[in-house]
Amino acid sequence: MNLHEYQAKEILHQHGVFVPKGVLIEKEEEVKLTLEQLSSSRVVVKAQVHAGGRGKAGGVKLCEKAELEQTVANMLGSHLMTAQTGHTGKEVHKVWVEEAVNIAHEYYLSILLDRSAHCLSFMLSTAGGMDIEETAEHQPAQIVTVNIEPNAGLQAWHMRQMAFFLGLDKVHHRAFHVLIHQLYQTFIDTDADMLELNPLVLTQEGTFMALDAKVSIDDNALYRQKDIAVMADLAEENPIEVKAAAYGLNYISLDGDIGCMVNGAGLAMATMDMIHLKGSEPANFLDVGGGVSEETVAHGFRLLLEQAHLKAILVNIFGGIVRCDLISLGLIEALKTHHLHIPLVMRLVGTHEEEGRALIKQAGIPVLWANDLDEAASLAVATYGEKI
Ligand code: ADP
Ligand code: MG
Repeated sequence: MNLHEYQAKEILHQHGVFVPKGVLIEKEEEVKLTLEQLSSSRVVVKAQVHAGGRGKAGGVKLCEKAELEQTVANMLGSHLMTAQTGHTGKEVHKVWVEEAVNIAHEYYLSILLDRSAHCLSFMLSTAGGMDIEETAEHQPAQIVTVNIEPNAGLQAWHMRQMAFFLGLDKVHHRAFHVLIHQLYQTFIDTDADMLELNPLVLTQEGTFMALDAKVSIDDNALYRQKDIAVMADLAEENPIEVKAAAYGLNYISLDGDIGCMVNGAGLAMATMDMIHLKGSEPANFLDVGGGVSEETVAHGFRLLLEQAHLKAILVNIFGGIVRCDLISLGLIEALKTHHLHIPLVMRLVGTHEEEGRALIKQAGIPVLWANDLDEAASLAVATYGEKI
């Protein structure tokens, strides 16, 4: 789960990390109150969207307090298109207004979960700020990676390694060690899988401050991170995935246009691979799982049928715990409210397969039947785009 910058900064602040003082604004009328709460003469207005690269796209504006009302009015409700939003962009519903900081130097710092190294990894660079992607590509030596073995935890020599790499003046070492401890603890305490400060700045007054903050929490840990789970901003999530999650479906949107419904994650992956192999791309990953109900299957079919860009649907059920007739009943239920306008290919084998096929035939649904996955994928790609 991704957090907004203002939420990440609140969590960091609770762990003792210095962040600029700021106020969240959702309506233009709130600007007047904000002015009283911030003491600096210049402020920074920052669009709160789940995407980086805002600065380059006009989503971060430095202004005098006198210009705040106008700057907020321009940004609220605007459509922000950054290198990370894709061409559709994101609408700005909230802005974070914070005190402008006197920057002496911008650093890059992130903590990641490196699954292949079985470690937490700190990545740091003196070339922080808005061009870190170019640095990573063209000057990788400017970035250092420090792996922390989680059972041993953070050690003093890790912090010295980081401080020396950044070439920090000795007078800043103590504050830097404290900061690294606080960030490590934040990462552990929140079950984060990513924490990024770009930039982490050293101010002209000699304080380390998180000027930008991106934090992502491991979804599997949200059950024990209840304070964080309520911070989810569903307006920032993919609306189909939000709907699917509400129905208890294991659904991930993808870029292609062949909709899939499969039982079992492995079989769903194989189905997606097979579609790709036959020359097309899947629109989604959908594992209906074993203990699924007829109603949930119906919700799954409706979700697929509501997506106007889909060109075919491939159902691949290898019935074990989930019965084939239950899948058919779900489809019949969905088609009471939704129209089937694209080819529907079904491979329906396993428990109660005869009953499953009979139900669909009785209902007169024009399904294209396949005996195995290879045939199903070929059929879906061959009939792709035909109108029913
Ligand atoms: P993004 O990474 O989405 O472009 P940032 O929050 O990193 O957004 O802001 C972009 C740049 O704006 C920063 O690298 C920094 O130079 C400047 N900036 C951001 N917040 C402040 C602030 N409070 N005071 C001064 N400069 C800021
Ligand atoms: Mg940034």
